[in-house]
Amino acid sequence: MSDNQTETILQAIKLTQRLRSSVAKVFQNLADGCAIEKGTEKKKAEKEVLNKFHESLLSVNNDISELEKTGSALTSLSPVTPNSIYLSIDPAIDKMPVYQQVLQAYKWSNKVSELAGYAANILDTHNKFKRTQTSLQPAKRLKRTPPTGHAYSPNAVETLLSRRTVKIPEMTITPTHPLGSHAVLQISLGRVLRAQVALRGLMIEWVNVRGFTEDNPDESKLELWAKSRYEVFQKVTESATAATLHFYSPHNAELALNSFITWFGRYRTLFSAPCLKCGKHYLNGLPPTWRDLRTSDPYHDVCRQ
Ligand SMILES: [Zn+2]
Repeated sequence: MSDNQTETILQAIKLTQRLRSSVAKVFQNLADGCAIEKGTEKKKAEKEVLNKFHESLLSVNNDISELEKTGSALTSLSPVTPNSIYLSIDPAIDKMPVYQQVLQAYKWSNKVSELAGYAANILDTHNKFKRTQTSLQPAKRLKRTPPTGHAYSPNAVETLLSRRTVKIPEMTITPTHPLGSHAVLQISLGRVLRAQVALRGLMIEWVNVRGFTEDNPDESKLELWAKSRYEVFQKVTESATAATLHFYSPHNAELALNSFITWFGRYRTLFSAPCLKCGKHYLNGLPPTWRDLRTSDPYHDVCRQ
């Protein structure tokens, strides 16, 4: 931007300020009004007020015409790359021809994109020709097996549990079928907590954790929806729900469920293991409610990052 242009802009700003003050003066005069006088004094006062008003309106008019004159002297921005023109306002870049270079690059990239279009057309016809030649040979396609995690027989869970070789101390798992074919695992872990894990086939759909002493409020076998009234078990429910996403594997659902159960078994030490990061048993009144997904180490919710 040339110095001349900058000066014009500065002048326009000054004129705008002046216009604002003269308009403000008009309204101020109107707001002040005039004192009520009697007789000849009244006429004199009225004339004075009118004169004042006339003068201030004249100065507004002058300011507007001056501002318009300055405004017309300003040149408009280039429509091609309108924002890039501001680059040269920075005094350090002022001496470099940034704006010209940007324009040049813009034109160049336009040309490249046009030529790439032509090239794509030519290559596409060539590719079609090649495909017709090779279509005589049998195509080698990668066969994908569909995920089977949800399509298991109702007894699959029982079979899986009986096959489990890794026994977790103080953990009992009872599969129930309150909803028909799909199982809900009732897990109890020592005298710490009870959990319900709803499955679809062998895929984990829902986890709910409550304290060992908390009763089942709805007196039914489906203990899925009633949340624990203790914050600690609500946090454990959150962590376990997050873990189900980590252990989600529709192609290898058996291993995924086994890994989840093994991971969940580490909550046996919920109230006895200190946090691995800060070394404390309690932080903000809560024990470490997170277990690392790989190492199963205990962490507080805020310490795990
Ligand atoms: Zn901690």
